[in-house]
Amino acid sequence: VPPQAAEIKLNQNENPFDIPRTLKEDILREALCIPWCRYPEPNPMTVREPLGRRLGLAPESILLSSGSNQLIGPVFRAILEPGDPLLICRPVFSLFRKTALMEGARVVEIPLTESFDYDAEALLRESAGAALTVLCCPNNPTGTVMDLFLLEKILKRTPGLVLWDEAYAEFWGQSAVSLIHRYSNLMILRTFSKALGLAGLRVGFLAAHPTIAKQIGKLLMPFDVNVFSLLAARRLLEVGSYIDLQTRKIVRSRNSLAEALKRIPGIRVVPSQANFILFRAARADALFEGLKKRSILIRPMNDYPGLSDYLRVTVGTDEENALFLEAVNTIQKDMP
Ligand code: PMP
Repeated sequence: VPPQAAEIKLNQNENPFDIPRTLKEDILREALCIPWCRYPEPNPMTVREPLGRRLGLAPESILLSSGSNQLIGPVFRAILEPGDPLLICRPVFSLFRKTALMEGARVVEIPLTESFDYDAEALLRESAGAALTVLCCPNNPTGTVMDLFLLEKILKRTPGLVLWDEAYAEFWGQSAVSLIHRYSNLMILRTFSKALGLAGLRVGFLAAHPTIAKQIGKLLMPFDVNVFSLLAARRLLEVGSYIDLQTRKIVRSRNSLAEALKRIPGIRVVPSQANFILFRAARADALFEGLKKRSILIRPMNDYPGLSDYLRVTVGTDEENALFLEAVNTIQKDMP
C-alpha cells in the first residue's frame, strides 16, 4: 500500500503512468545479475555520461543524488555563510525556505505578482545584492514560468549564484540547461521523479559548470544513489522516446483539464506550464474535503500564506481527470 493511499491520487505532482511492465521486467532481470553486496559506483558515469549526452553537457557538469531534494542543502551550504542573503520568490516549493533557514541564511522573499508571474523589476533589483537567488520554473505550486531572457539578465547582474529548479521543464518544453555553457554562476536542479516517472526510486541531479559541480560534489555523501536506482535511471535514458510521447499526452491532458475547470462556476484557474494546476475555489476547504470523501486526493494550499482559497491538482490519467472533474462539478453544485 502506498504511503498516501487514495483511489485517485492527484496531490504530489507525480507521473500518473507507471514504467511499462516490460521495461520493469528488463530492469529487474538486470538487477538479478549485479552484486548487491558491493557499493554503487562512486561517481556514477553509467548515468552521468548518457544524461550529459542528452543534455549537451560533459559528465563533469552533472551531480547525481537520491532525489533533487537532497541537493538543495549541499548547494546552500557550499555557497552561503550564515546571514548571507538568499533570494526566493513566494509562493514557491516550501523546501527552499525550510532548507535556507536550517542553513542559517537570511531569506529575502519577493512575492509573485497578483497573476502569479515573476516580478522582473524586484528580481533584478534584489538579485543585485544576493549571494544566492533561487528560482523555480515552472514554479511549484503556481505552474507559472519566467522568460529565459529574464533569467539571463539576472545571471549577468547578480554577483552571486543562481539555483534554477526546473523539475517540471519537460511539461513546459523549455530548459535553461544550454545557458550553463555561458554562465558559470548558473546551477540547475532536475529530477527523474516527474516526466521520467521514477519518483519512487529517488534520482535527481544538479547541472552546472564543472568547477561549481566539483565544489558542491565535495559536500555530497558518498554512494548516495543505490545500485538499483542507478540501473533503472540508465535503462530509462536508453528508451527515452516513449517518455516524450507520454509527456506530450500529459501536456494535452493538462490543457483540457484547465479548460474544463475554468468552465465550472466559482473556480478560477492559474495558467500552468507544469503537470499540475493551481486553482481558486470559493470554498476550497469544503471542496477538498468533498473530494477526499470520494477518495480523490488533491493538495490543499493552506500552508502557503495567501493561498488558503486555492487548491492544486496533479494531472492524472484521462479516467482520473474525468472522475475529478465530475466530482468537482457535483460538489460545487451542491455547495450551499
Ligand atoms: N523541486 C520542485 C519544484 C518540486 O516540486 C519537487 C517535488 N515535489 C522537487 C524539486 C523534488 O523532486 P525529487 O523527487 O527529485 O526530490
